[in-house]
Amino acid sequence: MPDTTKGKPVRKTKKRLPRSAYSREELVEIFSRFRQERPAPKGELMHVNPFTLVVAVALSAQATDIGVNRATKDLFKVADTPQKMLALGEEKVGEHIRTIGLWRNKARNVIALSRKLVDDFGGEVPQTREELVTLPGVGRKTANVVLSMAFGIPTMAVDTHILRLGNRMRLAPAKTPDDVETILMRIIPEEFLYHAHHWLILHGRYTCVARKPRCEACIIADLCKSREKTCDIPAPIVPIVDQEIPI
Ligand code: SF4
Repeated sequence: MPDTTKGKPVRKTKKRLPRSAYSREELVEIFSRFRQERPAPKGELMHVNPFTLVVAVALSAQATDIGVNRATKDLFKVADTPQKMLALGEEKVGEHIRTIGLWRNKARNVIALSRKLVDDFGGEVPQTREELVTLPGVGRKTANVVLSMAFGIPTMAVDTHILRLGNRMRLAPAKTPDDVETILMRIIPEEFLYHAHHWLILHGRYTCVARKPRCEACIIADLCKSREKTCDIPAPIVPIVDQEIPI
């Protein structure tokens, strides 16, 4: 049934968002090259199951993946389930993650989210965004990462790298992560959608870096429409088959 106001049907319109500077053909070419370079891209947060992934992503806010991996290496050896995390307790969790920014809050959240998983979800990580964001310390970005990496659902978790790339490249020129996410989910051709999140993060982390993009090392330099780019010649594609997790 359509919504009505005084008997007139009200159309639900899509939010108007800025347009990407790229045509579908250009997007296919860009993501084809990313796929050639990294046929099986992975996230760089170490985890052993959906629960440890939720914890690692929650810990990664305002911290580097390497810093989180160093802290969780030993933590996950002793606590890889919500029950074990609760048994370990907030103080001990805090000792493991003391090298990460905001560690006190994060230790509290890890315990609180473990308790909620045990109390409300039978100790299992839920598989919907609506349920995931009810966990303490878990926002939309964390939920998207978990849906994609743990459950194989295509999502676009917009972190600082994707927000920057969306605007710098004019791929998804918008101010908020939510709007960048919506634009990217609309424009990325479906065949690339599942891996697109990791391709963009890794491109932002290693090539289109924050301070000064490494355009001379960029495999899409000829296609890029950034006003900041310093080179038009694409770097040769060297496939990276075994991606290492940094520790
Ligand atoms: S050409 Fe430069 S600005 Fe454009 S995507 Fe590549 S590294 Fe980034």
